[in-house]
Amino acid sequence: MSLRFAQRLARLRARLDDPAVEALLITTRLNVRYLSGFTGSAGSLLIGRDFAVLLTDRRYTLRAQREASGFEVVVPDNPDDDILKTQLETRHLRRVGFEANHVTVKTLESWQEKYQELGVEWVATDGVVEELRQVKDGEEIAAIREACGIADAAFRHIQLFMQPETVELDVAMELDFYMRRQGARRAAFDIIVASGENSAMPHAETSERRFRPGDFVILDYGAEVDGYCSDITRTVVIGKASEEQRRMYHTVLEAQLRAIEAIKPGVKGCDVDSVARQVISDAGYGDHFTHSLGHSLGLSVHDGIGFAQKSEVVLEPGMVFTVEPGIYIEGVGGVRIEDDILVTEEGCEVLTHAPKELMEFEAR
Ligand code: ZN
Ligand code: ZN
Repeated sequence: MSLRFAQRLARLRARLDDPAVEALLITTRLNVRYLSGFTGSAGSLLIGRDFAVLLTDRRYTLRAQREASGFEVVVPDNPDDDILKTQLETRHLRRVGFEANHVTVKTLESWQEKYQELGVEWVATDGVVEELRQVKDGEEIAAIREACGIADAAFRHIQLFMQPETVELDVAMELDFYMRRQGARRAAFDIIVASGENSAMPHAETSERRFRPGDFVILDYGAEVDGYCSDITRTVVIGKASEEQRRMYHTVLEAQLRAIEAIKPGVKGCDVDSVARQVISDAGYGDHFTHSLGHSLGLSVHDGIGFAQKSEVVLEPGMVFTVEPGIYIEGVGGVRIEDDILVTEEGCEVLTHAPKELMEFEAR
């Protein structure tokens, strides 16, 4: 087993006392990948103090053995075999933790019923692996850095398409294609291209709308590299920006820069959020910043915690977050500016570098 996976297992095993369980059953795909390296779509982990088992099926035997080298790979000999039951039985497990955030009531009830005769007690755990995932190691940061670099390059490329009559969906497809050609496995999430009145909705769906002079255009997208995501937003103007558009844009930018300055180890998530919120409400737009400031980023785009008004998370070196304030006004449009930030020992490092001065694109 490589050192990184050995370290992750050691950190997980240190958590088996709280709540006290003999083993943890990990069923969430990204958590399985994080702990074992296994990337298949069907697999779960059973991890105790002195064993680590990957349960999968025969489609994945070779891949599991190659990717999850430190795990004992168990597959059923025939489709009716209950390999989990065999493990619970032969290892005499009585208290097993499960991931309560991801297991359905139906699945839990089926376990309770099927393994009742073994006397297994199922213990709900909450976000144990997600918490380990918050602090990234060097290889994880390198992957995120690469995903950020691809997003930056895509912003340079997509400026060619910023002109009246361009269709939102065409821009989204171009971003997707370009990022994959640059080495991304895929886009990290459904790309948002929101222009004109659509930009006034923080979670707009990309549509067939054509850009028009005077539009704000929000581009929100990211790349996935080695399983790790980037997530960037830039807002541009088609034609000349109005006075109000300038004021909105510069307020969002100021809020974003001030919030980034506040990021360092020991600071709470809610305090970073309030720095940006204060700038926006001082400018009179307080009612128009309708979402939280940012979210943690890694194997998934929304890793669980973030910068929100009630966020109690205390920042530590190695955590990665987005900072993405926005102002959305019906009838005018919206602005959002988003970068990816690594918390460092001294403060923080911005990982995305696409330019942030207000860009106006005249018809060519
Ligand atoms: Zn985003
Ligand atoms: Zn985001």
